[in-house]
Amino acid sequence: MSVINVTRSSMPDFEEYCDEIKEIWDSHWLTNMGVKHKALEAGIKEYLGVDNLTLFTNGHLALENIIQAYKLRGEIITTPFTFASTTHAIVRCGCKPVFCDINPVDYTMDADKIEALITDKTVAIIPVHVYGNLCNVEKIQAIAEKHNLKVIYDAAHAFGVSKNGVSSANFGDAAMFSFHATKVFHTIEGGAICYHDEKLRESLNDLKNFGIHGPEEVPFVGGNAKMNEFCAAMGICNLRHLPQEIEKRRIVHEHYMKRLSGVEGLQLNPSQEGVSSNYAYFPVVFDNYKYTRDQVYDRLAKHDIIARKYFYPLTNDFDCYSVLPGFDSSKTPVAKYIADRVLTLPLYADLSITDVDRICDIILE
Ligand SMILES: *Cc1c(COP(=O)(O)O)cnc(C)c1O
Repeated sequence: MSVINVTRSSMPDFEEYCDEIKEIWDSHWLTNMGVKHKALEAGIKEYLGVDNLTLFTNGHLALENIIQAYKLRGEIITTPFTFASTTHAIVRCGCKPVFCDINPVDYTMDADKIEALITDKTVAIIPVHVYGNLCNVEKIQAIAEKHNLKVIYDAAHAFGVSKNGVSSANFGDAAMFSFHATKVFHTIEGGAICYHDEKLRESLNDLKNFGIHGPEEVPFVGGNAKMNEFCAAMGICNLRHLPQEIEKRRIVHEHYMKRLSGVEGLQLNPSQEGVSSNYAYFPVVFDNYKYTRDQVYDRLAKHDIIARKYFYPLTNDFDCYSVLPGFDSSKTPVAKYIADRVLTLPLYADLSITDVDRICDIILE
């Protein structure tokens, strides 16, 4: 039997992609905001129901660029229960991450613990919609307004997630999406920022293109973070099939739920009130189960099934930060507890129910 990886990229038919790139071949316009870039930007805006969206070469640089567009300097309240990118973006932009603990139900930032961390240096909050679970967006918004802080969501896991009909792209001042190959919707590599203040568009467009505004005008110290035409073409194809892909993921998710819920020692992610999910990940927390998380991980690996310790380690436990003050996972005990026990199981649109059963049999045996 072949290896089952934790994820497998969705892809359009080869012919569909070839049709989409034909125009690029004919025009010789390969990057720098060409026709595919424009079409994808318009398509995603319509899908998400947003007015302002800027595409990037990946989600990480989208996040760095929005921090730079806001000229943030100081402390940013964030979560250590995330991918390396969130914390690195804050540090690389010269800000100081201040870690807020998570709640033990959906693993997003515990909004009740934010205010105690606010100082006169705090400039923003960067929460993460972990596994596609939405943060307590109402409470975070109220805190931000009271203390005059920007809110930038790392929504890398939440493309296609909405709450009471409002897309995750609309919460906070801005939301970053990743379109990496492993995400529910992808452009091979890619990302975007959605934002409410349309004045940001110019700065974001300049920042992603070396800070160049016109042939003789360079107002920003920018880098290069443009999405190319081939990635945009992949996105155009994948966007066409996204609703069906999410539906296939839902069926896999339901089957996991059926097999694993009610088992003593297994904590599953409950669905959130009013939230329509994208079924991005299937996390299981092994809490006093007959096997530890690491034992389950090893047992699956022996059968060529690759699960992922995601997120582990916490970003405030990373080696690169061991010399910096404030990076201390003992200050975020809930995040540490979950990170030590969580495993995300294989989940992708084309994962067969037979394979889901095999995975569950190994976990339960
Ligand atoms: C994937 C991911 C990112 C980074 O996105 P890239 O497109 O790979 O740069 C950031 N944050 C989270 C939570 C992610 O999962």
